[in-house]
Amino acid sequence: MTKVTEPELRRYRLLILFALFQIGALTALGQDSGVIRVSVDATEAPRNLLHATIRIPVKPGPVSFFYPKWIPGEHSPTGPINDMVGLKLTAHGKTVPWTRDPVEMFAFGCDVPPGTSELEVAFDDVSQPGTTMSARLTRIKWNRLLVYPRGINSDAIRVEAAIKLPPGWQFATALPVQREGPDEIDFKEVSLTELVDSPMIAGAYFRKVPLAEKPVLHEMDMAADSPAALEVKPAVLLGWQNLVKEANALFGAHHYRSYRFLLTLSDVGGSEGLEHHESSEDGVGEKALSDPGQLIDLGDLLGHEYTHSWNGKYRRPADLTTPDFEQPMVGDLLWVYEGLTEYLGKVLPARSGMWAPENFRESIAAVAAEMDNQSGRDWRPLVDTATAVQFTYSSPRAWMNYRRRVDYYFEGLLLWMEADVIIRRQSQGKLALDDFCRRFHGGPDTGPTVKTYTFDDIGKTLNEVTPYDWRGFLNERVNLVNPHAPLGGITNGGWKLVYTGTPNEEVKFNEEQRKFMNLSYSIGLIVSNDGAVLDVNPELPAAKAGLAPGMKIVGVNGRVWSSDAIREAIGATRSDAAPIDLRVENGSFQENYKVTYRGGERYPHLERDVAKSDVLGEIIKPRARQ
Ligand SMILES: [Zn+2]
Repeated sequence: MTKVTEPELRRYRLLILFALFQIGALTALGQDSGVIRVSVDATEAPRNLLHATIRIPVKPGPVSFFYPKWIPGEHSPTGPINDMVGLKLTAHGKTVPWTRDPVEMFAFGCDVPPGTSELEVAFDDVSQPGTTMSARLTRIKWNRLLVYPRGINSDAIRVEAAIKLPPGWQFATALPVQREGPDEIDFKEVSLTELVDSPMIAGAYFRKVPLAEKPVLHEMDMAADSPAALEVKPAVLLGWQNLVKEANALFGAHHYRSYRFLLTLSDVGGSEGLEHHESSEDGVGEKALSDPGQLIDLGDLLGHEYTHSWNGKYRRPADLTTPDFEQPMVGDLLWVYEGLTEYLGKVLPARSGMWAPENFRESIAAVAAEMDNQSGRDWRPLVDTATAVQFTYSSPRAWMNYRRRVDYYFEGLLLWMEADVIIRRQSQGKLALDDFCRRFHGGPDTGPTVKTYTFDDIGKTLNEVTPYDWRGFLNERVNLVNPHAPLGGITNGGWKLVYTGTPNEEVKFNEEQRKFMNLSYSIGLIVSNDGAVLDVNPELPAAKAGLAPGMKIVGVNGRVWSSDAIREAIGATRSDAAPIDLRVENGSFQENYKVTYRGGERYPHLERDVAKSDVLGEIIKPRARQ
């Protein structure tokens, strides 16, 4: 008899309960698979206002509907229920009263009147300004625009969607189109799972750029706030085309019928990074295709979200694979789902030529330094940042260094890089993590499908590639508290993590984008450009002097606060032993703090270790274009 683990037992129990619940729900609704029709009026998208009408086949009697709560890819109960307003239920044109479940806020019930076969549910989606829309473009997420009969598997629910767009707007989506009229687009009937997995972008300034026609269509679809933002330089286009080739060479197969990058370019709306089987939502700044720093950032975003089509959508942790949008997801394997994706999402832009080798190394150095300097690693194992995803993802900035946030991404990256280097060293360069990916994520080409896995499957497949104590390797790095980040990928990969006075390119880009200064590796402080203390490392001099998040630095060594003043003061500590004198506001009080520190500005970089061969250099060599 196969040994059944505790998480599996829990899952079986849940599945049985869920099956019983479904039988009950189907009986109450008196339907098997009637088609739900979702009509969206997006003509007021520039006002952050969408109108949804859902027609649901019903039988008379009590029914319950559900608004999607657990959103795939977000791993959390993040359905924007508070943006659902104006809810009205009608049957034969007459209002039907509804009530919200007093415990499960995402569920609604009503009593369907006798003689009714279809209920109309209408509501408005009022997205927060600056999220999914701008005045010239919108991102349509179907999960925001529908309810469905509660308790039915989303694969078994059939849906037909239709949408009206503002005049002249164009669109792109992986959802198959049935009919495209001048005013309305009708989509083919699909499952509710597929609908939610197939968002669209639309906008006044729009462009579709084919990236590859074979073996299937790959396309970059772009909506922007200006026509100029849609201009693509030949080198950028080449990088995108190479990305498709490199990803397919890495995995050896794909699991989509076509693939669309749904890219929005706006400084005020549409910012996003969310994976789907046959598309990804990629939202960046308006000048992302012309600004060198933003282009580097875009390489990371596209590499990451595209990788998810294989790692996350096709291969998915069993406990993250839920039958509908109500059952809770369990995040303890997110260091695979997001961590491996984070790693490959940096390897692929380097292999594709979107990044120079130096960009890759600076990015790795920034991640390694951040993880190695998390003071929260003294109490929180990596796995807990994943298990607690329901609140770690939305963690505040204050005390983040002590708290640890979504480190399963970044420390996950370091862990997978270390595994890659071990495989390459053990096999004298004959094998690589690529071979794991081909076994785990490859196989024959398929359409969208989900193949679940457990912790044991990871170790087993790694062992098939290269025999090693992978269980011990993973257990030590994932489940145990470790004072240091796993830097073996760097050190055995022929490089050293060093700190110098020269700014790290990725750290500098983040500072500019987020308008803060990252002094984490000198006095242990992250401070906004106006002096507000955002975070401290409790182990380093600023915190030891008494500074804490929420305070505001107003003076540096007797002068008024400025970014230059604090940089100069830190720089001077290389030759001056005097403490840095900070004048600090804490609410309505002001006090002086003396920060004792020597060593000047410090930023992380990778430095070549010539005693070892350059495995990191091998990792980022193109493999599709040799
Ligand atoms: Zn991701």
